[in-house]
Order: sequence, then C-alpha cells, then structure tokens
Amino acid sequence: MSETLRSTDPAAVLAALGLSAPVLPGAWAGPALTGESAGTLESYNPADGSVLGRVALATTAQYEAVVQRSAEQFARWRSVPAPKRGEIVRQMGEQFRANKPALGALVSLEVGKVGSEGLGEVQETIDIADFAVGLSRQLYGLSMHSERPGHRMYEQWHPLGLIAVISAFNFPNAVWAWNAMLAAVCGDGVVWKPSLKAPLVAIASHRICEDVLAAHGFSGLFGLVIGRDAEVGERMIHDARFPLVSATGSTRMGKRIGTVVAERFGRSLLELGGNNAIIVAPDANLDLALRGIAFGAVGTAGQRCTSTRRVYLHESIATDFTARLVKAYEQVTIGDPLVAGTLMGPLIDDDAVRMYQEAIATAVGQGGRVLTGGKRVDRLGSYVQPTIIAMDGDLPVCQHETFAPILYVGTYTDLEDAIRRQNDVPQGLSSSIFTTNFLSAERFLGPAGSDCGIANVNIGTSGAEIGGAFGGEKETGGGREAGSDSWRAYMRRQTCTLNYSADIPLAQGVNFDI
Ligand code: NAD
Repeated sequence: MSETLRSTDPAAVLAALGLSAPVLPGAWAGPALTGESAGTLESYNPADGSVLGRVALATTAQYEAVVQRSAEQFARWRSVPAPKRGEIVRQMGEQFRANKPALGALVSLEVGKVGSEGLGEVQETIDIADFAVGLSRQLYGLSMHSERPGHRMYEQWHPLGLIAVISAFNFPNAVWAWNAMLAAVCGDGVVWKPSLKAPLVAIASHRICEDVLAAHGFSGLFGLVIGRDAEVGERMIHDARFPLVSATGSTRMGKRIGTVVAERFGRSLLELGGNNAIIVAPDANLDLALRGIAFGAVGTAGQRCTSTRRVYLHESIATDFTARLVKAYEQVTIGDPLVAGTLMGPLIDDDAVRMYQEAIATAVGQGGRVLTGGKRVDRLGSYVQPTIIAMDGDLPVCQHETFAPILYVGTYTDLEDAIRRQNDVPQGLSSSIFTTNFLSAERFLGPAGSDCGIANVNIGTSGAEIGGAFGGEKETGGGREAGSDSWRAYMRRQTCTLNYSADIPLAQGVNFDI
C-alpha cells in the first residue's frame, strides 16, 4: 500500500480504521465492553477545533474486567515459547504496515503532527515490532562458574506479569508500541491507559493488535481502558497486579506514579519531561547545526520530549548564526498538518497555547528578548508562531519544560561553561553538540560531559532510533525503553543453581554437618 495520504477527510480516515460509530467504546477486554460508561469524551482535531469522535469513558467495573481478562490470557501466554510469541508480534507489525497510511493520518488529525511525522510515528511501531521479533530469540541469560564442584549456575529471564502502560498525548501510538511489542515477546500481558487527548489512535492501535491476538486464541492479552486519572489511572497505579507501570508524561505525573508504585514495591519505568540543549562550537558545520536546531525546536511544534529548548552558541559565530536561524524560522510554513508543504501544525489544544504565551511573558519579564515569533497565529485552531528568545545569562524560566516551540538562545566563550549550563537544569533527557573538533566531541561525551540519557554529535536532540535504549536521567525519570537491553525491564531475573554431584557442599566453605 502506498504511503501517500489519499484522503485527509477525517470521516474516510476513521472509516478505514473501523472507527465510524457515533460513540466508540472506551474499554476493551480484547473486544469492546459496552453497556455502561463514566461519561463521554470528545476527541478534537487541534487543526480546526472540530470534533473527530466521541468515546464512552471506562467505568471502574470495566477496568476490572479488562485487567481480569489480560491476567487470564497472561497465564497461558507466558508458557508459549518466546520465538512463537515473536511470530505473533511479527503479524502485528504486518498489520501496522497495512494500516500505516490511515493510522498515520489519524495521528495527524488527532494530535496535529504533520503528515510525514504521523506516518513516521507508525513506522516507529513497525520498527519496534521487527526489533521485538528478533529479540524473541535473544532473551539471553548468563551462565556462571559455580564455586562448588558438580554444580551449574545460570540466570534465566521469565515473563514479569501484567504491564500497565500509561502514555502521553504526543506519541499516541509509538510509545505504547515500544512497551507493548517488547512486553509481548517477553511473555507479558499489557493494559493500556492512553492520554484522554488521543483516544482514537489508541482504539485503532488496540484493534489492530487484538485482531491478530484473537486469531491465535489470545484475545484480551492486550487491554485498553480510556478513563479519567482519578477513576482509572489512580486505580491502575495502586493495583498490585501490575508489577511494572510504564508511564510517559510530565514530571508532575511521574512524581505521583513513582511514589505510589514504590510504596507497593512495584517497579516503575518513567519517561518524563526533557529540557534539551544544543551546543554549537566555533568549528561546527553551521549548515548542519542550522538544520538540526530548526527541526529539533520547530518539528512537532516543539511537542516532543526531545525537542530542542535551549541553544548555546560560541560567541564567535553567535551573531551571524542567530540571524540565519531567525531567517529560517520566518520561512516555516504553519498550517493544516495534512496539507503538503506544512512544516508546523498546531499545538494540542488552547491550554497549550496559554502555557506558550505565559512562558514567553515570563521570559520577557526576566530579561529575554523575542527575536522572532511570540504570538498566537490568527486562524482557527491552536496555532502559534515558532519563537526564538535571546538571553544574556540563563533565564529562570529555562529550568522548566514548556511543551511548545520556544527556543532560548545564549552565547558562551568556554566549552566547559557551555556543558555546565547545559547540565544545569532538573531534567536530563537529550543533548547535542555540533563540532568538527574530535577533542570537543569526546569532552562532551566523556564522564564529565553531558549528563543526559542521550548525547549526540552533529545531529539534533530529537529523532531517536528504536535500536538504542531511550530515556533520561534526573527528573526525566531514569527509565529506558525500546532498544539495547531495555527488554529486561519487562522480565524477572531468576538465578538457578543445579547440583549434579553426590554431595551437598555449602557456599563459602560453610560446614553444617548433622
Ligand atoms: P501528562 O503528564 O499530562 O499525562 C501523561 C499520562 O499520564 C496521561 O495518560 C495521563 O492521563 C496520565 N496521568 C496523569 N496523572 C495520572 C495519575 N495520577 N495516575 C495515572 N495516570 C496519570 O503528559 P502529556 O501532556 O500527555 O505529555 C507531555 C509530557 O510527556 C511532556 O512533559 C513530555 O516531555 C513527556 N514525554 C516524555 C517522553 C519521554 O520518553 N521521556 C515521551 C513523550 C512525552
């Protein structure tokens, strides 16, 4: 199927994904649970404020049914050989391939990403499914040499149980998939509570997987509950049937979830806010730096956890480079995300516009100078101008993540000082340096360099590949998802010792003869 968006008509996109009902169910224990609801949620298109669809919010009784169903299926799924689980995940990946044009368009309609980014998000889901398939033959444990004769010692990894996935609005499909595809090959069940700002993508994504699972007798292994935080979210994080809660969202949310889950001795995998900086050294390839910064700060309307929020320019290049950056910003085409040529769509809603306006007013009050942008765009929908704010020192407002296209630009003389300022925020997700100097690059990547989970040279802060472990330090939460050995979070480790001798010696030479 072509990746071209054949239709930007919301009704056609929803019909292609089987979402045409006037009110869609919000609780899915495999198939939908109907008959009751905790109210109705409207999903809006941020490009024009129109209602895309309506969803019946899940009740607590429905939540219970969804978790129960996933637990029943997990009891069988955990014993399916991992490569066979991988084969079922492979089929899910195929279904995402087949549905990519429609699902990508729905991502654009529901959260305002431009067309290529909506498709790119679904591609991430396909990629992580492929990754998980390979992984299903590589869930390796180590073997160790026992100190006791006639003994063998090794560790193995077992399925962990039911995984609660709580996702943010800005990656309404891929962040759940990072968790769900790995959890599935690891032998777990998954119950998903998506953002109430993107319920339709969640329903479409769930149904794609449910069709595959049902065909193999595992209907309901993946469950979906679209409900309020006070009713469903809080119940979920307190629920001891979830040994792991994987949550993506704001630091405020992560503090709450981390505390609650730790109190019950559960594990949490937290992917929280970022506050990402780029350093541009005097020897940088400035054309690359310009493109890296522009995409990092303006792409997805600044609504990625990895969006570039701060730039530190070496003083020798600052004036000319800033002028080029301002010129590039003024050429950004803002508009309907599904119209070809649009580079920046809307913010998710008018609350986000208000936070953008407040952050700019605060920055100006603290001495920042707006070089370009700074205003709401005068058209229907939640559109704003991408904004550059010059600062002499670091502004206090820079300590906070504002989920909008605001870039703070400062200058530096000494690389040590630039790295210190880059690290001097509560968050620690992504970071970059543009330099052609080997020593500067290694200094940035060294143990006293960037303190972030992601450190890049000559690429921007956003746009990570799924093959690496993704996540950040400090208030970003410390979690790691996607590639490398992130799968271990979804399994439990067991150390096993087998005695094939005729004696039973104790470790450390201890005697206990009776
Ligand atoms: P948010 O914190 O408002 O909501 C995220 C999710 O948490 C939603 O599903 C919400 O319903 C749920 N939630 C909130 N309180 C809860 C509670 N008490 N119990 C259970 N669930 C609860 O975030 P958002 O506005 O949707 O997303 C933007 C934020 O997400 C930004 O801070 C961004 O940096 C962050 N984010 C981080 C990553 C990452 O990988 N580090 C990726 C994407 C987004």
